Amino acid sequence: MANCAIVGINWGDEGKGRMVDLLTGRFDVVVRYQGGGNAGHTVVNEYGKFALHLLPSGIFRPGVMNILGNGVALDLENLWQEMEQVRAQGVALTPENLRISERASLLLPWHRALDGLEEARLKDRAYGSTRQGIAPFYSDKYQKKTLLAGELFDAEALRAHAAHLTEWKNLTLKGVYGAEPVTVEQLTEWLVTYGEKLKPFICDTTKLLRQAEREGKRILFEAQLGTLRDLDFGIVPYTTSSNPIAAYAPVGAGMPWAKLDEVIGVVKAYSTCVGEGPFVCEMFGEEAEKLRQAGAEYGAKTGRPRRVGPIDLPATRYGVAMQGATGIALTKLDVLSGMDEIPVCAKYRLDGEETDDFPFPTKLDRCEPVMTTMPGWKEDISGVRKWEDLPKAARDYVEMIEKAVDCPITYVSVGPERDACIERK
Ligand code: GDP
Repeated sequence: MANCAIVGINWGDEGKGRMVDLLTGRFDVVVRYQGGGNAGHTVVNEYGKFALHLLPSGIFRPGVMNILGNGVALDLENLWQEMEQVRAQGVALTPENLRISERASLLLPWHRALDGLEEARLKDRAYGSTRQGIAPFYSDKYQKKTLLAGELFDAEALRAHAAHLTEWKNLTLKGVYGAEPVTVEQLTEWLVTYGEKLKPFICDTTKLLRQAEREGKRILFEAQLGTLRDLDFGIVPYTTSSNPIAAYAPVGAGMPWAKLDEVIGVVKAYSTCVGEGPFVCEMFGEEAEKLRQAGAEYGAKTGRPRRVGPIDLPATRYGVAMQGATGIALTKLDVLSGMDEIPVCAKYRLDGEETDDFPFPTKLDRCEPVMTTMPGWKEDISGVRKWEDLPKAARDYVEMIEKAVDCPITYVSVGPERDACIERK
C-alpha cells in the first residue's frame, strides 16, 4: 500500500470518508486531489461525527500529514470555517498536520454568486448544483483567470492581479446576469482576511511529497464524488467540473510522476444519487422511502433526500473499470438486513435490447432497469467483524457483486463507526 487512491465508484456518497478514516492509520500522508467544499464526507470516530467538506479525512490521525493539492477548488473562507468547526470539536489543525498547495487556485466569492445566478437562470433545467461555485471556478481556472494560493504572499502583485480579474468578471456579472458588480476593495479585503489566516499552511507541497516519497512514506489520495460524476467519464452534464477518477490523483495531488499501487473503489450495497440526472435503477414510493430511512440517505452537505435504488451492476462495473480499481470496499451492507428479498439491477434495457454496458449519457434516459432478486437475511449484522460470521445470504450477495463487476471485495462495512468493518484477506 505505498501509493493508494480511495475513490467513489458510483454517484458519490458511497462512504469514502469512512473508509479513508479507517485506513489512514496505515498511511503517512493523505492528499485531497480535486473538488471543493461541495463534498460531504461523513466520519464518525472518537472525536464525534463530522461532515468534512474540503479537509482531508486524515486529520483525525496523529502523525498523518494532510494536504490539499493543486487540483482542489480552494475556497479560503469555507475552509477556514470548516477548520474552526473541527477545532471546536477538539481536533488540532496546524501546519504540522495540514498543508495547502501554493499551486491551488482560489475559489472566489463571485464563483459562488455566479453558481446561484446560473442555476436561477436555468430554472427547471438547473443542474442541481450545490451552489458552492465549483463549475464557475473550474471554468475560470481553465481560462487562467484565477489567483493561485502562492500569490497571497506578494500583496502588491496580488492587488494588481485582483484588479485585472475584477474588471473582467464584472463584465459577466453586470452584462450577462444584471447583478451587482464587485469592487477591487471588496475582493482584496476578502483575500486579506482569509489569506492571512491560511498563509501559514500554504507551501510547495510537491516538494514535500517528493521528500515523503524519498523517505518511503505511504501516500493516500482521497477523491470526492464518484466515477459517474467525472467531468470526462460521467453522466455529462450532470457531473461535477473536475475529475474524481483515480487517474487524475497524481496530477491533482501534485505528484504528476506518481504511479498508483492500489485503487480502492468504494461501492454502496445499494445505490443513491443526489441531485439531477439520469438514475436508471431509481426506486420510488414506499419501498424507496424505507431504504432511504434505513440508510439515513440525506445529503451531508445539502440535507437533500437522496434518490435511492438497488445496486446497479452496469453502472458499478463501468465505475470499477474507469477507476482501475484493484479492490472494492462495499459499504452499508447492514442497511439491507431484514429484507425478504434484495432487488438487484442486473442489466439495462436500451431500445428493447438488454445490455451489460453503461451507455453514452444521452441514451440513459431511454434505459430501463432489468431486475432480479437475491435472498435476504434477517439478522442484524452490524456487530459482525469476521467474514465467516456473516449470514450465508449476505455472503452470497457480496460474492454476486464481486463476480458481476470482476473485482475483489476486500472490505465489507457494516456500520458507520470506524471499526465496523470486515477485512477479507
Ligand atoms: P462519502 O461522501 O463517500 O464519504 O459518503 P457520505 O458521507 O456522504 O455517506 C456515507 C454515509 O453512510 C455516512 O453517513 C456514513 O457515516 C454512513 N456509513 C458509511 N459506511 C456505513 C456502513 O457500513 N453502514 C452504515 N449504516 N452507515 C455507513
